[in-house]
Amino acid sequence: MKEEILYCVKCKVEMKKSILDSYEYVEGIPIHNVECYKCPKCDELFFTEEQADKMEEMTEKQKEEMFIFVRKISYSGKSLIITIPEDLASHLKIEKGQRVKIMPMDKKGFLVEVKK
Ligand SMILES: [Zn+2]
Repeated sequence: MKEEILYCVKCKVEMKKSILDSYEYVEGIPIHNVECYKCPKCDELFFTEEQADKMEEMTEKQKEEMFIFVRKISYSGKSLIITIPEDLASHLKIEKGQRVKIMPMDKKGFLVEVKK
C-alpha cells in the first residue's frame, strides 16, 4: 500500500494516518478499526478511495451480521404472517400501524419497504 501525504483543507497541516475504534460510514451501522487520515489540529477526518472502499465492504459485512434473521411463517386467519425482529424494527424505526409496501423480487422473495 502506498503512503500518501495529505493535508487538512482547513489547517493546511499534514494529516496523520489513524485508526478509528468505531465509525459509522452508513448511519446506524458502526464498523470498527477503520483506517483513515486525521488532522492533528482539528480532528478532521479524511478517507482515501481505498479506505472508503474498505469501509463500504466492512459496512456490508456488518449489515449482514446485524440484520439477517431467520423467521418461520405462521398463520393469522387466512393470511401468512412473519414477525419483524425487534432489532430490525428499531433500526428502521418501524412502529405498529405504520404502512409498508411489499414487492416481489424475482422468484426468490419479496422486498418490504417502509413508507415514511
Ligand atoms: Zn485541520
